[in-house]
Amino acid sequence: MLPFHKRLLEEFNIKKLLKEYGGCQQCGRCCKNERLTIFKEDVIRLGLLLKSEHIQRRDDVCVTLKLPCPFLNKNRCNVYNKRSDVCKTYPFLFHYIGMFTVVMDCPLGKKIYDDIIKFCEYSGIKIVGDESKTEEMKFIDRLVEDKKLNSGDGYSSKITNVPFDLFREFLNWRNKNI
Ligand code: SF4
Ligand code: SF4
Repeated sequence: MLPFHKRLLEEFNIKKLLKEYGGCQQCGRCCKNERLTIFKEDVIRLGLLLKSEHIQRRDDVCVTLKLPCPFLNKNRCNVYNKRSDVCKTYPFLFHYIGMFTVVMDCPLGKKIYDDIIKFCEYSGIKIVGDESKTEEMKFIDRLVEDKKLNSGDGYSSKITNVPFDLFREFLNWRNKNI
C-alpha cells in the first residue's frame, strides 16, 4: 500500500481537488499553528536547507519542526518546491488508519468539509462524533498527545475524520454534480 500522503496525492488526486476548491489562500494559518512532522523522503528532499536549529525533535521515523515553521517567510513558503508531502496534502492529514482527517480551521478544509456534510445529508449517511472513536483511535490520540506531533502549543484544530470509502463516494458524487 502507498504511504498515506502519497496515496492522497496519487490515488485521490488531492492536488486537483484542492485546486478545484480555489487552492490555498495563503493565510499562513497552518504554517504558524500546525506543528509539522516530516518523514525520511521529505528530509532527503530538503537536504541542507533543513538545519538543526529548525528541529524540535527527531526519532528514527520522523522529524518534527519548530513552530512557526522555520521556512515560513511573510506567509510564503521559502522551500515551496521542496516542501513536504504533508504540506502538499494539507488540509488533509493522516491521523487514524483508514481515514482522512480534514482540518476545518483552514478555509479550504472548511469548504470541502461543508460539501462532505452535504453529501452525507443527501445520501442519508449518519454523521458521528468523538463518542464513536475506537480504542485504536484513542490509542493514537494518546500517542500524538505524548509526542506533541501535530498541533501547536495550546492550539487545537477543528478536525473531522472521513473514512477512505466515504471519501471515494463523495468524490464520485461531486464529479457528477459539478
Ligand atoms: S490554512 Fe489553508 S488556506 Fe491557509 S495557508 Fe494553510 S492551506 Fe492555505
Ligand atoms: S514547509 Fe512551507 S508549506 Fe510547509 S509548513 Fe513550512 S512554510 Fe508551510
